[in-house]
Amino acid sequence: MSKSLFMLLCSSLAIHTSLAADTPPANPAKIDGAMVRSAFAGNPFYAASTLAYEMPAFDKIQDAHYAPAFAEGMRQHAAEINAIADNTAKPTFENTIVAMERSGQLLGRVSTVFFNMASANTNPAIEALSRDLAPKLAAHRDAINLNAKLFARVNEIYNQRMQLALDAESRRLLERYYTDFVRAGAKLSDADKIKLKSLNAELASLGTTFSQNVLKETNASALIVDTKAELKGLSDSEIASTAEAAKARGLPGKYLIALMNTTGQPYEARLSNRALRQRLHEASVERSNHGGEFDNREVAINLAKLRAERAVLLGYANHAAYQLEDATAKTTDAVNKMLRELAPAAVANAKKEAAEMQKLIDVKKGGFKLAAWDWSFYSEQVRKAQYSFDDSQLRPYFELDNVLQKGVFFAATQLYGITFKERKDLPVYNPTVRVFEVFDADGKPMALFLADMYARDNKRGGAWMNAYVQQSGLFAQRPVVANHLNIPQPPAGQPTLLTYDEVRTAFHEFGHALHGMFSNVRYPRFSGTSVPRDFVEYPSQVNEMWAVWPEILKNYAHHYQTGQEMPPELLAKLSATAKFNQGFATTEYLAASLLDQRWHQLTPAQIPADALAFEANALKQAGVDFAPVPPRYRSTYFSHIFAGGYSAGYYAYLWSEVLDADTVDWFKENGGLSRKNGDWFRQQLLSRGGSVDAMESFRNFRGRDAQIEPLLLRRGLKADTNAK
Ligand SMILES: [Zn+2]
Repeated sequence: MSKSLFMLLCSSLAIHTSLAADTPPANPAKIDGAMVRSAFAGNPFYAASTLAYEMPAFDKIQDAHYAPAFAEGMRQHAAEINAIADNTAKPTFENTIVAMERSGQLLGRVSTVFFNMASANTNPAIEALSRDLAPKLAAHRDAINLNAKLFARVNEIYNQRMQLALDAESRRLLERYYTDFVRAGAKLSDADKIKLKSLNAELASLGTTFSQNVLKETNASALIVDTKAELKGLSDSEIASTAEAAKARGLPGKYLIALMNTTGQPYEARLSNRALRQRLHEASVERSNHGGEFDNREVAINLAKLRAERAVLLGYANHAAYQLEDATAKTTDAVNKMLRELAPAAVANAKKEAAEMQKLIDVKKGGFKLAAWDWSFYSEQVRKAQYSFDDSQLRPYFELDNVLQKGVFFAATQLYGITFKERKDLPVYNPTVRVFEVFDADGKPMALFLADMYARDNKRGGAWMNAYVQQSGLFAQRPVVANHLNIPQPPAGQPTLLTYDEVRTAFHEFGHALHGMFSNVRYPRFSGTSVPRDFVEYPSQVNEMWAVWPEILKNYAHHYQTGQEMPPELLAKLSATAKFNQGFATTEYLAASLLDQRWHQLTPAQIPADALAFEANALKQAGVDFAPVPPRYRSTYFSHIFAGGYSAGYYAYLWSEVLDADTVDWFKENGGLSRKNGDWFRQQLLSRGGSVDAMESFRNFRGRDAQIEPLLLRRGLKADTNAK
């Protein structure tokens, strides 16, 4: 399962949501004009980029530009908002809602670049500034969300909404703004507003601390290996990469295994040295929870505590109840029910898989009991034995550029008619980043797509998509979107060969990119991926299906040396193993989702004193405390929920997968890969962003509600009675 992290740049998006602003404010500080111009001379954020599609001018952006652009961006935005709130004219949709939607342009420009650089290309200056900015931005948002005069205008328009002649998207925008304000505390008393502001400021700082600790601890926990002999099982090129990585850290002659952000580490599948596997596993699971500078135990507890207090202040039982109300799941009961129903079958499958491996260990007279650090190694052995197949047979067929251009792009061309042309004239922030211009089926220029595929020490783990420029009719803007992966750089001169999991991740993230690029809405608030968190993974998961679609595979999966197509038997073996190890994959995911819900369904009085004891107990109570399968993330490095936008939302991947599996069936029932099918999916789903209710757009596409059976079959959680 390639459950990649999809990041929406929550901070900048939040600014664009309930807080955004308008009509060039009545008179935005005319006197300041000259001063601002001189202070901003040469600051590339001050005006919209003049590059194609308003792509950020990465060659001109320097670290020193961020702080003044944020300060001025917040100042301008606040002035714009005050002008709207203080407007003496009667509140109208245009002079209030659309006006907010237009506001905060400078702040939006600097935020999108800054927060993505903080994830993809960070450095000490960016880290220091993000710590400094977190509480200031939280205060800035609160000043808008809790502005009583502003809310009074929104409320007045909202109450008249049935009488206003608004088109469907505009009416939805009005409702969305009203809801955003209420959820952000606009109806609280003045005393409670003060409490809320202080909670938000603290939470913002703690979230930044959490993610910076994870990045630093992950780098610091990289495993140093003394001898080449210990690395038995890795390929020559992988060993060369680990040697280069050690050298880069000033340890020539040694080998360095960098940690990936999940609990499981890819090399565990192939390292035959059991002691080294154990060291690698322990380095991973002990991240940020064994004392030292980057420990996150207290940080996690404090985040859970302050979130619980904030939820109560806002009138909810707990943080999860607050979050889920705004998702398609709606309630904690709905999420708990799904997790509770799926967990026993998943754990039972994992135990069966463990028994198979134990048999193999015993046959080989291993003399030990299967442990977490043995899982991927022995599951590969079982797979080899049962299917005479292992992942390394595939890699020579998955060369990065082929995968991207002849696979990912080719599939999009077949489905949607869009075409791609590399642009080498546009500046990038790292020489490995590639820029492609995307043309619509009728040949019209449509979007820019940035591909940032390689792992770096200054890039956080996982994979994600972000938008530098969001599509909107209001600003006549076309999208600039980016995908970020973490594929290890091969040694100089060697090809980049992907694992099957990385191939799926490339298709997955591009599904998010399509959601951003096909967006066809009027208001920025609804652009592209601005949909509920438990819906946003749906289009990206659907896009994964094309990675193994025969016509697509035939086009891209060519041996990097001989150019030969992947032999059909290899493909048949790959499909035969689709349900293999699903007990493990589903269990590790459910365990992480359950942890997330437990942390966020606490009341302030229930906050534990010991994070690790709480974690162990939560897993035990939920029946997912099966030691060989630890959660996909443990609490102290679970950035999705403590630092990213997935608090009480990690269940969303599986929730979205119900829609995904049902949609894969729809494509198959309707003839698979075709322009007709692609165009229908684009028209009903990918182009709508948040402008239509998420489940309504699904029904418009599918003709009915989603059914869960396709997911249960896919994950082996239900026997396939139709199986031939
Ligand atoms: Zn995703």
